[in-house]
Formats: sequence, structure tokens, C-alpha cells
Amino acid sequence: MPEGHSIHRHAQLLTSLFMGQPVRVSSPQGRFATGAAILNGEVPGRAAAWGKHLFVPFYPLNVSDDVDLGATRIGRSPAAVGTSPVDAPAAHWLHIHLGLYGRWRLGGPGTAGLTGAGITEAPTEDSGMSGPRRGASGTKADAGNARSGRLGVGADSEVQRADLSVADPAANRPKFGSINRDNTTDLEGSKLLTPTPTTRMLMYSERAAAMLTGPTRCEVISPAEVAEAVAKLGPDPVRNEPGDRERFIEAARKRRVPVGQIVMDQAVVAGPGNIYRAECLWRTGIDPLRPANRVSKARLGRLWDDLAEEMRRGVPTGIATTIPDEYRPDQSVEGDEELDRVAVYHRDGRPCVRCGTTVRMEVLAGRKLYWCPGCQR
Ligand SMILES: [Zn+2]
Repeated sequence: MPEGHSIHRHAQLLTSLFMGQPVRVSSPQGRFATGAAILNGEVPGRAAAWGKHLFVPFYPLNVSDDVDLGATRIGRSPAAVGTSPVDAPAAHWLHIHLGLYGRWRLGGPGTAGLTGAGITEAPTEDSGMSGPRRGASGTKADAGNARSGRLGVGADSEVQRADLSVADPAANRPKFGSINRDNTTDLEGSKLLTPTPTTRMLMYSERAAAMLTGPTRCEVISPAEVAEAVAKLGPDPVRNEPGDRERFIEAARKRRVPVGQIVMDQAVVAGPGNIYRAECLWRTGIDPLRPANRVSKARLGRLWDDLAEEMRRGVPTGIATTIPDEYRPDQSVEGDEELDRVAVYHRDGRPCVRCGTTVRMEVLAGRKLYWCPGCQR
């Protein structure tokens, strides 16, 4: 299942492709027909992620030019949801949760130059999004990208570079935050992507198309319902807003279940899945089976900080690369290069790269948990 870093990347990509562009929306499968009819002909604003949830505001085509489509933010209070500085709320929000089987596919000239979340490479983990196949040059550029991720480029520079690559002016972009009303012609049919019978949603402008299959949630909701959905979620380490660290520590300290279970509980911390759970507990040396209320505040704080840093670093590529440089193996495990990027995830039965103890796997609350009993206390 794609973890929170991928969903944040999806939000960036959808914003880059569709913000300010009137879109056609349909549901070839039919299960989203009512929602698609509401959004069809409207204009997406800035998409946002909170944990594994994706929210996209949609504005009517005739919304005032004074409205800054990029200004809408989601937040904890109902007042912060759907309200732009000029008090012109986006009435419709597309809410998507990919779940286990949800996948995006992107196509069209607007995707040229986009990277991350599987857009220009065949991802070796399920990022939940794929793009069109590229020629040799795209492959090469992507290889460079993957390498720089491996070398542990600082989070800020990496995020910044990714933002630049996304913001690159592809052909005739409207001014950021304004509506390109000229783009309503030639939208009678999308030749950019061919939907399948299971396509829940097809969305396209004249320059890009996005196709969604298999999501757990795909619905149109109101600003108040966005607030409700967010209220059920714990703090998101990628967002890492003021007070989030304390919120996480406080919530975790109230629970007696294993801390490894807490890190997967979206009401306590929103976004981490199985990879970041295993990796960040290993990185901070915390035994995942220790009851959460028996982990000190200081250690929980370090765990939050590590989740925030590592997940944020994974956003540009949509791929988790969490093994510290000093433990990176000299030689790849044959046929399983994915193992070069992680310390304990999927490494059960192998010696821990830090202490040599055999990495273990156990099923905890229905999900496989990987950890090293030697150096996680
Ligand atoms: Zn170890």
C-alpha cells in the first residue's frame, strides 16, 4: 500500500497537471458517476494530502478571477477548510484513499519532465502511481534521480529540486492560481489515456489525463466533511505542523499496545505504513513490541522527528530510502535491489546491518512487522 510520502507526491503532481485547468471528469466503471457529474467542467485547485488521504478542491468555471486557486488549505478547524482569502470556498472536494489496490495512471504531454512516484521509472515499490513509458533520455534522467536519492541528498535541496521540476513551464501554462478558461475547447474526448472497465475516475484537461482504478474511497465531499475526515486523523509527519510532535507523543503515551502498532494507527500518526514503521523504529533503536506507554517521551520525540525527516525525503521520488549511508551494502542482494534501500524491511533471516543479529518478522495486528531484536530495545 502506498504510504503517506507517495500521497503527498500525488498531490504535488495533480496540482502541477490540473490546477487552473478546466477538466472533464467521468467514471467509465460507473461507480463514481454521480461524483464525476458534479466535478465535470469544474477547475481543480491545489491538491493536499493528509496521511494516506488525498483532497482536491474544485471550483466552478465562473469563479471570480480574484480567487487564488492555490490558496486553499486544509487544516484542523472547519474554518480553515475550503476558505480562500477572498472568502470564496471551493464547494466540492474530491476525496481519495487508495487503500490496498488503488492506482493512478498519468498520461499526456503535461507529464513531460515530471518525476517521482513512479512517473518516469518503473518503481520497485508500489507508489500507487505510474506514468507513460519514456524514451532513453527519460530513463537516464531518472537513473540520476534515483542515485541522488541513494546518496542521501539533504531533504530541503531534494524537495526544492523536485518542486522546480514540477513547476517547469510545460506548454501554455496559465498563471499559477488563475483559471485558463481558453482550455475548454477540444475536450470532447481524451486521447491521452485509454480507460479500462475498472477505471473509477478519468480526469483530463487538454494537456494531461489521470486515471484512477481500485481506490477504497473516491467521493465528492463538502468542506465540512473534509474537516470531519481530517479530525479523525493523527498528525502527519510530512506536514509536521506546529504542535504535531507533542500531539503524537501525547497520543502514543496513552496506549498500552506495542509501539509498532501505534505507528500504523492513522489516528495516532497519519501516513506511515509498513516500510516507514519498520525502518524508523530500527533507526531510532526502539523495540516495536514495547508497549507505547513504556517508551519515554524523549524516544517518542526522536521517532517523530525521524518519521518526519525520512518521509519528507521520500516525497520527491515516492520511494522510501531509509538505510543510513554507513550501513549501505557494497553489493546488492542479487535480484532484490530493493533491499539496498532499507535496513530491516523484508530483511528477515538476514544479519542486521548494524549489529549482526538476525532480523525477525512477526505478524502484528495483521501486518508483517520487521525488526532487529539485537539493537532495538
Ligand atoms: Zn541490529
